[in-house]
Amino acid sequence: MSAPERDAQPLNFVVNRCANPSSAQTRSSILANPGFGKHFTDHMVLATWERGRGWHDAQVTAYGPLQLMPSAAVLHYAQEIFEGLKAYRHEDGSIWSFRPEANGERLQRSARRLALPVLPVDDFVGSLRALVTADQEWVPAAGTGETSLYLRPFMFASEAFLGVRPADVVTYSVIASPAGAYFSGGLKPVTLWISTDYARAGAGGTGAAKCGGNYASSLAGQLEGIKHGCDQAVFLDSGTHEFIEELGGMNLFFVTKDGRLITPELTGTILEGITRASILELGKELGLDPEERRIPIEEWKDGARSGDIVEIFACGTAAVVTPVGELRWDGGSVDHRREGVEVGEVTQSIRQQLLDIQYGRAEDTHGWMTRLV
Ligand SMILES: *Cc1c(COP(=O)(O)O)cnc(C)c1O
Repeated sequence: MSAPERDAQPLNFVVNRCANPSSAQTRSSILANPGFGKHFTDHMVLATWERGRGWHDAQVTAYGPLQLMPSAAVLHYAQEIFEGLKAYRHEDGSIWSFRPEANGERLQRSARRLALPVLPVDDFVGSLRALVTADQEWVPAAGTGETSLYLRPFMFASEAFLGVRPADVVTYSVIASPAGAYFSGGLKPVTLWISTDYARAGAGGTGAAKCGGNYASSLAGQLEGIKHGCDQAVFLDSGTHEFIEELGGMNLFFVTKDGRLITPELTGTILEGITRASILELGKELGLDPEERRIPIEEWKDGARSGDIVEIFACGTAAVVTPVGELRWDGGSVDHRREGVEVGEVTQSIRQQLLDIQYGRAEDTHGWMTRLV
């Protein structure tokens, strides 16, 4: 069903430079206050896959509207996957990415689950390098804090066909968006809502794949949370509604009084976050005891009340590490914070450690950084 994992030749992304790129002035005013996902660079990557032919027409071209038939399968059956990672400028001007090979491997796993063609990891990294090279002036300067160029690779069924089967024509694309610090007003704990009416994923479903459909199915729960004054929803396992899974787009960690760093184990319904995997390694180095297991939601409530749980944070590429403050549900709430400490010590130091590696301020002892430009 899928193309061979390694074509004879790596894909060559032909660069067709945009005829009227943004002026330096426009760019610098955007970079001064980029927000998140609002502004896009001058170029994008496109490549096409056809059954029997494999990947072809790989290019970097002007960012702009895609041509798609209304019958394109993705618009009807959601055969779509994506990735999210960042390009960081280091002090010497070079541009790096954090574990992009892991994103490439995850895109392959997502592709298998959604019956999409597999893109070789080298071509995935090659596509990022091609786009970031063309748009390198869009990568914010080093030393501006936490700004980066967010990269969004995605793949979808572009074939104009309403029959239900894996598409024979698929488009791969990468777009890029300058990103400021996720929390413009400084690091603030979020309030979470326990979603009991909705699950984001179920056994045998697509929870472990990074696909748009999972996000669509999380929105009703998210809205319910917002209605109750919360920032985001926590999803539980769909079978028993007893065990903590994750947020709509971030994994969760708990720090206990006795130094354990606990996160829900990967059961097939949780997205395998690269930030999550990295934090499990960093935690060990910080002297914590990492634990991956099923965590009952009651353990959160009890631990927060008793003081056994001292810190809770969510993690993912976009927001890095986000402290969690309060947990609310239908009929109650609990807050583990003591004496007005907004951001716990472990949360703060894991966050700092990750950022220092990503921005080249700390030695990359794990070999996590890949130079793009
Ligand atoms: C992308 C994503 C994450 C975080 O993954 P990272 O690789 O750390 O960015 C967590 N949960 C969901 C549902 C996601 O889609």
